[in-house]
Amino acid sequence: MAQTKFMLDEEEIPKAWYNIQADLPTPLAPPLNPATKKPIGPEDLAPIFPMELIKQEVSTERWIPIPEEVREVYRLWRPSPLYRAVRLERALKTPAKIYYKWEGVSPPGSHKPNTAVAQAYFNMKEGVERLATETGAGQWGSALAFGTRLFGLKCTVYMVHVSYDQKPYRRIMMESWGAECIPSPSERTEYGKKVLKEDPKCPGSLGIAISEAIEDAAKHEDTKYSLGSVLNHVLLHQTVVGLEAKKQFELAGDYPDVMFGCVGGGSNFSGAVFPFLADKLTGKNPELKAVACEPKACPTLTKGLYMYDHGDTARMTPLIMMYTLGHGFIPPPIHAGGLRYHGDAPLLCKLVKEKVVDATAYHQNEVFKAAITFAQTEGILVAPETAHCVKGAIDEALRCKETGEEKIIFFANSGHGHFDLAAYDSYLRGKLIDYEYSSESVKEALKKVPKV
Ligand SMILES: *Cc1c(COP(=O)(O)O)cnc(C)c1O
Repeated sequence: MAQTKFMLDEEEIPKAWYNIQADLPTPLAPPLNPATKKPIGPEDLAPIFPMELIKQEVSTERWIPIPEEVREVYRLWRPSPLYRAVRLERALKTPAKIYYKWEGVSPPGSHKPNTAVAQAYFNMKEGVERLATETGAGQWGSALAFGTRLFGLKCTVYMVHVSYDQKPYRRIMMESWGAECIPSPSERTEYGKKVLKEDPKCPGSLGIAISEAIEDAAKHEDTKYSLGSVLNHVLLHQTVVGLEAKKQFELAGDYPDVMFGCVGGGSNFSGAVFPFLADKLTGKNPELKAVACEPKACPTLTKGLYMYDHGDTARMTPLIMMYTLGHGFIPPPIHAGGLRYHGDAPLLCKLVKEKVVDATAYHQNEVFKAAITFAQTEGILVAPETAHCVKGAIDEALRCKETGEEKIIFFANSGHGHFDLAAYDSYLRGKLIDYEYSSESVKEALKKVPKV
């Protein structure tokens, strides 16, 4: 019988995060002040982020120590298991081996607390009393509610209004951990008021909620802002996933040939893959393939353009160099699979631009079909987001069946879908409609992006 789970001891939780900025062939393009189009400095970010996170954001040190207090919280669920999906392999009749790293064991059920806990800690150290953030379906809001609770901070979550109405369970989770959850757009901020005046029934969007949370943080002395993906320091914190996985692959006596991860803002993909990409960038393993999986309904990496754009709808964030669908992008309401952000992490975008990482996009029905195959073989009902890379891994395993290749396939299993059962229900009842965002719509939306 092949071994199913590869486990590490608590002492083997990484002691430092891996910073891929140390190994990039050329440095990242700097974020720009939208008014002056000049690079922003640490002082521009100081009103909304604590200094330690600003330092991590721009650091080119290869290793950033993980504070003991953070590792102590990580012990609640880390190290997370690396699984070999033996039953899935058998069902697919593939000669390939399929491994996945399972982040659904964290209390909120995804990879997101890896950074939520670290961010809450560094804010607490600098005397911050409250964090403001946004959430879509509620994964990030619940992770930050959990992280802030453990370090005694207050937490305000602006939740996209449609999700607030349609997905009450994540809100209840946030409130149970003591966070305040506000439907966005709201009357709490000037921007929210403006949006509501123009459209009192506005369903909200991630971009609008980000604008509200930033405004809240900028206006209150005791409050900072926290982002759950996209930024360099968030990807950095997520590298605990890949660093553990590397050790676990050693236990398994294997090393991945091809790695899949789903991409919303890029944090779980990057966290799982960057520690392996270090081997590719430094020439130790030039053949390694990594594939970012996204929805055809929000095809940032596969159809977006690589250019400077705002991170939010209200154009309050600096301009960042990334693949973007335009900051005005609002995903089609029929899309059930998550991963709705108009941009992606600058670090990941750069690696896609330089062809170190590949990207591919799927329709939602094929994605849920893959998730069901996985549930019926391995048992886990993954998050709809995660289902995108399950699809990627299964397709690769089936290709191996054609060619007879005994490839080692990895995918990042970022979380469970226990609060997304309505999406599964829609799929099972044949109610999901495949939708492809067109290149023409991208071109149209990008006309509103500022020229740099
Ligand atoms: C938030 C989330 C994602 C997408 O965010 P990334 O920053 O791209 O990782 C993927 N999977 C799960 C389970 C999530 O909660």
